[in-house]
Order: sequence, then structure tokens, then C-alpha cells
Amino acid sequence: MVKLGLQIKCTLFNVTDLAPSDRDNFGWCLTLKCPQCGEEHKNDVFITKSESHEIQGSRGSANLVMSCSFCKKHSNVDILQNDFTYSLSDSEKFKTILVAEFRGIEPVSFKFDGEWNCSAENSNKKFEIADGAEMESDGWYDYDQDGSCEVSITECEHKFIKIK
Ligand SMILES: [Zn+2]
Repeated sequence: MVKLGLQIKCTLFNVTDLAPSDRDNFGWCLTLKCPQCGEEHKNDVFITKSESHEIQGSRGSANLVMSCSFCKKHSNVDILQNDFTYSLSDSEKFKTILVAEFRGIEPVSFKFDGEWNCSAENSNKKFEIADGAEMESDGWYDYDQDGSCEVSITECEHKFIKIK
């Protein structure tokens, strides 16, 4: 049972409060690896706080339940905290935006895929980022007409940290 935090680091320009648009229905896109046989799962999985699946042979449930396609080891993942926001003051620094418990499975990497939003720093404008994959690959760029300035989110990185 390992509690891990997903940290992201982005360069925010004239925007703040970056977060998934709909936290509880957001699918956190992860690549996972089986710690028992060392096999990395080919297909990414989406872990969603509002989804609940029964854990085989137990009365519990988890946000993601799976078994390794090679060694058949059962595993599951539960999101513990998803109410974080990445602000302008966090720019260019790693900050935890998700805490989850991984039982029998390890995350390898994270993709920013999915719908995010952020707020303009110089006006009341809100921006929707239709697919976070864009900020991760080429960077996301827009223009804040009310604040008369360019806005962008670039240099997106991530890492996982152990949480006690
Ligand atoms: Zn396995």
C-alpha cells in the first residue's frame, strides 16, 4: 500500500489557478507498471474519483480495479485528495495536485490529457483548455482581451513523490 502524490511543474504566464475543469469526473491518465512481474501496461488508464469498482474477494471498492495481464496480480487505486490548484505563485515549481493510494500497482508516468481550466491574472476572464495534452506538447497559448495580454501554459512536467 503506497500513498503517492502526483506533482506537476508548469510555466504559467498571466494565468493562475490551473486545475481540471471537473475534478471528480476528471480522468487522470496514468501509465502503470506491475511491481510483481515488472511489466509495464501498454494501455494508459484513466482514474476517476467519481467511479467506483468492486474489489474482487473483498467488500471494498476503489476508483480503479485491475489485474495484470501477465501475472494476473490484482491491484487497485484510490484517489484520496484531488482538491489542489496550481497557481501563478507555483509556476516553475513542483506542486502536488493529486494524492492516491496504489495497492499492488505502480505509476510510471502521467499525461495531462483532459479538460482543464485556469483564470486570467489581470482580469476576471476564465479560460478552458479543451485538452491538456496541448499544454504538455506544444504549450497552450491564448489572449486575455480584458487584461490586454498574452497568456500561456508551457514547460509542463510531472513526477511522483511518496507521501507518509
Ligand atoms: Zn504482473
